[in-house]
Amino acid sequence: MAVEIPRLPHTLPLPLKDDVLLELVDKTKDWALMHGAAMRSKANFSKDSLNFAPFVLVPSAFPRKEFYKAVQLQQILNELMHRVAHNREFLTKSLKETIQVDEFTGNLFKIYETVQDEGVSQPISLGLLRSDTMLETTCPSPGKNCPPSALYCCWKQVEINTIASGFGWLGPASALIQRFVLQELNHHEMLVNLPDNNALEGLCSGMLEAWKIYGDSKAAILFIIEDVTYNICDQRFHEFELRRLNPYVKVIRRTLTDMAQRAKLGPDNELLIDGYAVSVVDGYAVSVVYFRAGYEPGHYHSQKEWDARLLIERSQAIKSPSIHYHLAGTKKVQQALARPGAIEMFLGEASKIEAVKEIFTGLYSLDFDEFGDQAIQMALDAPERFVLKPQREGGGNNIYGKEIRDAILKMKDSRERTAWILMERINPPLSTGYIVRPGGPDIPELVDLVSELGIFGVIIGDSTKIYSNRQVGHMLRTKVSTANEGGVAAGLGALDSPYLI
Ligand code: ADP
Ligand code: MG
Ligand code: MG
Repeated sequence: MAVEIPRLPHTLPLPLKDDVLLELVDKTKDWALMHGAAMRSKANFSKDSLNFAPFVLVPSAFPRKEFYKAVQLQQILNELMHRVAHNREFLTKSLKETIQVDEFTGNLFKIYETVQDEGVSQPISLGLLRSDTMLETTCPSPGKNCPPSALYCCWKQVEINTIASGFGWLGPASALIQRFVLQELNHHEMLVNLPDNNALEGLCSGMLEAWKIYGDSKAAILFIIEDVTYNICDQRFHEFELRRLNPYVKVIRRTLTDMAQRAKLGPDNELLIDGYAVSVVDGYAVSVVYFRAGYEPGHYHSQKEWDARLLIERSQAIKSPSIHYHLAGTKKVQQALARPGAIEMFLGEASKIEAVKEIFTGLYSLDFDEFGDQAIQMALDAPERFVLKPQREGGGNNIYGKEIRDAILKMKDSRERTAWILMERINPPLSTGYIVRPGGPDIPELVDLVSELGIFGVIIGDSTKIYSNRQVGHMLRTKVSTANEGGVAAGLGALDSPYLI
């Protein structure tokens, strides 16, 4: 007999009547487009046009207590990641096997070792992080942390992103869309349950703080971008917000290929681009580098782009992320942190350690040792209980369900397996709602949904001191319950925001 999955309550009586839906959906699509909750189309790409980003019409319910717990934990997670990023021994030990077989992580690690051995020119890092979480319905110890009858047990961390943590704009924009919808439906009284979300301002103020620390008022903030940017509104709103907060700060966008062709280091390792020289008015010196690309192999077309990444890393510019932060965000390091005794190495206070441990779910290495062998056996015995993950970012790389068995059988005797980790699958509660998509029906169907909450954090510091550490906002992505993954840009997920119950 199939186990019934717990269900979160509706935030409004559903379904809505067809005539109400028809008019509301049409109007809200225009609202989204006209307020920049949009993306470039992959199917009909043109730089000159936008599609609205898929969104959930009515906000999904999210338990208030769990939401604020996640918000409050973010500063501790920031601190943890900052310390992990600055621990060479831990990074080296955790990634030792993986970098032998995963060329991409290996290349990142080579850059890390190079700059560590040379001596870093810029000790300060800017962390713009996003911790992604899901509610868990399968309680391992009912009665301890939650009542046995609870809808959900607690929330669990999916991963923490240290590079290109997007949705600083689309996160807050989702709540703006849904505020509009609730008002159109005359549910003004519900607005108080949509929590404030100033993620965009928070992330941008982090960049401006780093720019100030750098201390050259003329130096630009540089966004490293892909060749083609689909998620353009999210990125441009960061740029425009920086300009709104401080109209004197120049913001420029360049690809790694541009950097390879046009960037160089000055006499004090200043990052200079586009023909900059002190006596010439062309070009820019760069104060802060914000990577919105560089997190997957496809962003490095040749050795030149890798050389550009090294050049940036060697520079005096403050990087988000610096290479050690990038490595600290790998899945392998996440798994190493879940080992007994690991968190204790980085956080002193017992209450902090306990709070972080509570959100971890089972994470297992597939190294060639008895633990790796045990993990392989567990995955073969019950593949549906797990997610198999490589060292990649950006969605669409994981393996689920029965395919895990095939993948494991294929890799089990080769060193390839050390590039992967096994994670227990989180089983979130269902909610019900409408997803509105470009090209979708005029009247969307009511479907079962599951959500993933991301909390943004900003941290600035060096190996000895933390200058700033704060939680700055959130984003909620929701997908149909049958999809394994819910990337919005990838087309499965939709913008949503938590309605606190
Ligand atoms: P990426 O860095 O590519 O975003 P993630 O670890 O976030 O990798 O995995 C991508 C997606 O896969 C997540 O957004 C989530 O929808 C799903 N996912 C990942 N891990 C789990 C898990 N343990 N349980 C359930 N779903 C998961
Ligand atoms: Mg990620
Ligand atoms: Mg993710």
